[in-house]
Amino acid sequence: MKNALVILAGGKGKRFGQKSPKQFFKLGNTNILNIFLKNLEINLFNYLVIAVDKKYQLEINKELFKDSKTKILFSSPGTTRQKSSFNALKKLKKFNIKNVLIHDAARPFCSNKLIKNILKKLKKSNNAIPYIKFNDRQINKFNKDTDVYNIQTPQGFDYKLILEAHNILKKYKFSDDAGLLEKLNKKLVLLKGDKLNIKITYPEDLQFLELFNKVSFKSGIGYDIHRFDKNSNSGLKLCGIKIPYSKLIGHSDADVGLHAICDSIFGALSMRDIGYHFPNNQKKWKNANSSIFVIHCRKILIEKGYQIRNLDVNIIAEKPKINKYVNLMKNKLSSLLKIDKNIISIKATTNEKIGFIGKKEGIAAEAIIQISNESFN
Ligand code: ZN
Repeated sequence: MKNALVILAGGKGKRFGQKSPKQFFKLGNTNILNIFLKNLEINLFNYLVIAVDKKYQLEINKELFKDSKTKILFSSPGTTRQKSSFNALKKLKKFNIKNVLIHDAARPFCSNKLIKNILKKLKKSNNAIPYIKFNDRQINKFNKDTDVYNIQTPQGFDYKLILEAHNILKKYKFSDDAGLLEKLNKKLVLLKGDKLNIKITYPEDLQFLELFNKVSFKSGIGYDIHRFDKNSNSGLKLCGIKIPYSKLIGHSDADVGLHAICDSIFGALSMRDIGYHFPNNQKKWKNANSSIFVIHCRKILIEKGYQIRNLDVNIIAEKPKINKYVNLMKNKLSSLLKIDKNIISIKATTNEKIGFIGKKEGIAAEAIIQISNESFN
């Protein structure tokens, strides 16, 4: 016996009042429909039909299906929810489906537990409709106490029964599929829904999404040191800023500040170190402007879905004096990393004349970075 899941993602979301339909509203690197698909145990179904406008098919992350045996189909949305549902059901006609669940894409937090409960219920009944009951006292508009159930999706049906109902009632208008069975005087089989299975309808509902969003943090540390070329006074580079003093010796421009920052980013991403990514035996990095390295690190960070929370840099040097350049350095880092200046800290210290930095033989820098991603799962 085969079963199928229909996802209705064709709605325009007029009440949502945004340019794109709510199910495709961008949240970080994802959208409301992809949040649902990411959490879905897709192998519970033999077939998945997504009713979606062709131009939004690209917004669906197909990677999420790549390891699954479930057959994915697309159907065209109708002008109403009911027509979309009917179109999707007709798409399944040739597959000998026993049970079908019909779900609204605007409910991204439907749990697999609820889906399994519905599938279980369908073993003994021809429909399974989830509901919740709120604990608040409920009144109707005449101020009379009343007992109200809130009906959710996915709603489960015997496939032939719901297809037939759509066929018979195509001239009438219903706001969900259970409504068709009620009209045909079929008994609805209710089961407990899920309070977190909320429907995103208005822009303010997006605040619920923030509550569900699990943010994960990572930190990285970087350290670097370079020696002065005492025979030169052509200036050194530090955090992207040119400072009149002896040059620092290195394969690239020897910017210890930027190198420490790159290493902190690679560290946070568990991606080895700067020497691995920009080997100092490669000609193309000879005398390279280290800003290129930082821009590259930022690119990787963004591609992996992370953002920088804060960056703290220590520069350890007896000479030259750094403090008057700190503001320029912050501006430079802010533009290279495309982050607010307020989350960048640059501190300078001497080595109290101790050791090789104390003897003005070189400059060291260390950096600590914190990054976060928003996972919506
Ligand atoms: Zn270096």
